[in-house]
Amino acid sequence: MEYKRILLKLSGEALMGERQYGIDPKRLAEYANEIKEVVDRGIEVAVVIGGGNIFRGLSGAATGMDRVQGDHMGMLATVINGLALQSALEQKGVQTRLQSAIKINEVAEPFIRRRAMRHLEKGRVVIFGGGTGNPYFTTDSAAVLRAIEIEADVILKGTRVDGIYTSDPEKDKNATKFDTISFNDVLRKGLKVMDTTAFTLSQENELPIVVFDMNKKGNLMRIISGENIGTVVNL
Ligand code: UDP
Repeated sequence: MEYKRILLKLSGEALMGERQYGIDPKRLAEYANEIKEVVDRGIEVAVVIGGGNIFRGLSGAATGMDRVQGDHMGMLATVINGLALQSALEQKGVQTRLQSAIKINEVAEPFIRRRAMRHLEKGRVVIFGGGTGNPYFTTDSAAVLRAIEIEADVILKGTRVDGIYTSDPEKDKNATKFDTISFNDVLRKGLKVMDTTAFTLSQENELPIVVFDMNKKGNLMRIISGENIGTVVNL
C-alpha cells in the first residue's frame, strides 16, 4: 500500500449527486462503500467534508448577509454533512467518530488531536466537521490543517474530475491532464487545485495532494494501492 494514513477531502457539492441542493442518499452510500473498502484493508482514514451543498458564507454575503454569520452557517452545514456520512458509514458497520471544530457537544466530540489520532489507530474513521472553526477559511484549509496535525501521509481530494488539467476539461476539449505536478508549477501556471491559503499551507508543510475522481467505483482503493489515476502534487 502506498499510504497508511490518509485524509480524504470531500466537497459538500459532491454529496448532492444529481440534485441541486442537499444530500443524495445514493451518492452518500457510494462514498461510504469506497471508504469502507480501504478501512477494511487497514488504512487509517480521516475525512474532512465541505458544506457547499447546503450553505456558503460567500454566497450569503453576496445577498447582503453578514459574512461571519454566513460562515458560521457554512461551518454548521459541514457538521450536518459529517453526521450524514457518519450515519452512512455506521450502517455499513464502519466505526466512526465525528469531531467538530466548533463546540456542539451533544452532537459531536470536540476536535482533540491526540484523541483523533487514537481513534485512527483503533481503525475508526474520524470525520472532521466545522471546518477550521474560523470564518474566512474553507474546508480545503481545514483538510490541510488536520492532515498536517494528524500526520497523514497525503491529502486525497476527491472531485468529479480525474485530476488537474492544463485548463478546465469541462470547458476546453484540448485540455490535457498532469500525472504529477509540482506546487510551484501549479502556482506559476495559475491552476486551481485548492484556494491559495490551503494550497500554500500544504506546500510549506510538504504534504502531497492527490486530486482524483471520487465518483468512479474503486478509485479510492486504486489510489491507495499506488495507481496513478489522478494528479499528484508534490514538491
Ligand atoms: N467555512 C468557514 N470556515 C472554515 C470552513 C468552512 O467559515 O474553516 C464556511 C464557509 O462559509 C464555507 C462553508 O463553510 O463557504 C462551506 O465550506 P466550503 O465552501 O469549503 O465547502 P465545499 O466547497 O468543500 O463544499
